Amino acid sequence: MAETALTDITNRITHAAGIARRKADDITLIAISKTRTAEEIEPLLQSGHRHFGENRVQEAQAKWPELKARYPDVQLHLVGQLQSNKADDAVALFDAIHSLDRPSLVTALARAFEKAGRSVPCFIQVNIGAEDQKGGCAIAELPALLASARDAGIPVTGLMCVPPLDVEPSPYFALLAKLAADNGLTGLSMGMSGDFESAIRLGATHVRVGTALFGERG
Ligand SMILES: *Cc1c(COP(=O)(O)O)cnc(C)c1O
Repeated sequence: MAETALTDITNRITHAAGIARRKADDITLIAISKTRTAEEIEPLLQSGHRHFGENRVQEAQAKWPELKARYPDVQLHLVGQLQSNKADDAVALFDAIHSLDRPSLVTALARAFEKAGRSVPCFIQVNIGAEDQKGGCAIAELPALLASARDAGIPVTGLMCVPPLDVEPSPYFALLAKLAADNGLTGLSMGMSGDFESAIRLGATHVRVGTALFGERG
């Protein structure tokens, strides 16, 4: 079932890219596999998909080391909040981090990269709708956070957002694209199951799709 959905989503990405006069190859589909078992994930791996995303370090540690051993070219993306004390664990397992959102995490990640002798691309998460309950740095704090991340040697490749629920997301995607351009960043991690096509029209380079691939989460 997930394999059929994968073909469908891939076709929709190609179509949305075409409308935006963009190359489908410039858009990475991240299959968000949080709450899914290894058995649910495996068919996508078998059909050749390689980019996956998880939102919890501990859950990923329980599932992915074994899958990565069998599919060594998997690229695992952390899309959920990262506690500073889990930075070492995250750097050991993940190949990209989409939730860099505060100065203390800049410090923790810089230290973890140095300790591990490797660094992974990071997206700064922006609280694009200025919502109290959401992660992400405030728009006003973005330039300073980006400067400190760059000073610390963190490879920042782009911006990430999760727009407010139940409202038209396009203005938020457009705003994130503008913030990225203003700050010399090309990566845009935005768009989920319900809105990845509009995100692509507005420049998304990484779309994060869970439900539309795997079905509703239980
Ligand atoms: C769960 C999650 C997604 C995927 O959401 P769907 O609506 O299931 O596609 C994308 N991004 C983040 C940060 C998530 O936590």
